[in-house]
Amino acid sequence: MSCDFIALAGAGVQKLHPYQPGKPISELERELGITNIVKLASNENPIGISSKAQAAMEKEFAEMARYPDANGYYLKAKLAERCGVDINQITLGNGSNDVLELIARVFVQPEHEVIFSQHAFVVYPIVTQAIGAKAVQIPAKDWGHDLEATAEAINTNTRMIFIANPNNPTGTWNNATDLKAFMDKVPNDVIVVVDEAYYEYVEFAEYPQTIPWIKEYPNLIVTRTFSKAYGLAGVRAGYAVANEEITGLINRPRQPFNMNSLALAAAEAVLDDHEYLQRALDVNKAGMEQLIGAFNEFGYDYIPSVTNFITVNMKQNAGPLYNEMLQKGVIVRPVANYEMPNHLRVSIGLEEENAKFIRVLTEMSKG
Ligand SMILES: *Cc1c(COP(=O)(O)O)cnc(C)c1O
Repeated sequence: MSCDFIALAGAGVQKLHPYQPGKPISELERELGITNIVKLASNENPIGISSKAQAAMEKEFAEMARYPDANGYYLKAKLAERCGVDINQITLGNGSNDVLELIARVFVQPEHEVIFSQHAFVVYPIVTQAIGAKAVQIPAKDWGHDLEATAEAINTNTRMIFIANPNNPTGTWNNATDLKAFMDKVPNDVIVVVDEAYYEYVEFAEYPQTIPWIKEYPNLIVTRTFSKAYGLAGVRAGYAVANEEITGLINRPRQPFNMNSLALAAAEAVLDDHEYLQRALDVNKAGMEQLIGAFNEFGYDYIPSVTNFITVNMKQNAGPLYNEMLQKGVIVRPVANYEMPNHLRVSIGLEEENAKFIRVLTEMSKG
């Protein structure tokens, strides 16, 4: 006898659309039978893995029959020192998405509302809907988060607010003055998650240093990742910083080995690879200038970005353009699922990768 398994799933899960990742290079290679593919679709670090992180993982291989340190002591100790917090304020995750999901699961029940911006990172609606809670989307302002409107949307059912700073896929950011004014308006029983996946890339003095604010705002949780500037996207390593009480709660339902031994070793090692991080930032800066230069030259309208990607308005449905680029061996990211059907998000690559993208773009614009 068959069974309607969909009816067995949670109400939120029934309506959930799974996360759409950037197309893997290997998949396009298979489809097209070509090899020199450029992937600028998942905001990965184009310079490859840090040699220190790689060496640390290679050293760890011999120990792989053992479980990881469930507490991630050495990595947490190093992060605590860097962040100027106590070790009991750090939660490790299998990527920061893991931590974002854990945080939502700990605090949000189906009767609650979760607020985030239009065009905000898609994981926020996914984790909200998986719980069956109500997602409240605030219209974006100049593609970025409208913090005033966000504060006004808070009501007695509001349990959590996600702020991506900077945001993906728009590359926009909120400054310290505005974010602090916002925090002042949020009641302490509403958890504010500030997702700083692109923290390392932002050079503006007005960009908020939020971790010291946790003392003043006990409802503030800051998440960061090793997937972007630290070049460990495939390893899966991220973390949250919050006050001790919140951290204790997040760690209750956490799977004890949610960060594996290789990830622990790699993350700890890359934190000491200052030369790697600097090179990653330099390459990103040069690549951003290269792409912006081309967009300006050819009259493309882009959203100014402080991250390792830039989102450009194609002034027409970008879906067919995305497909045409795939045929020419360049993978970028369509963002129609972010209510941005005319935009394409382009991750900053190495100079020759950016050049290939620019070449394909200009070829296409000539028809
Ligand atoms: C990439 C990204 C993350 C990080 O994801 P990981 O799970 O750490 O790889 C988190 N938030 C935003 C906004 C991102 O773009």
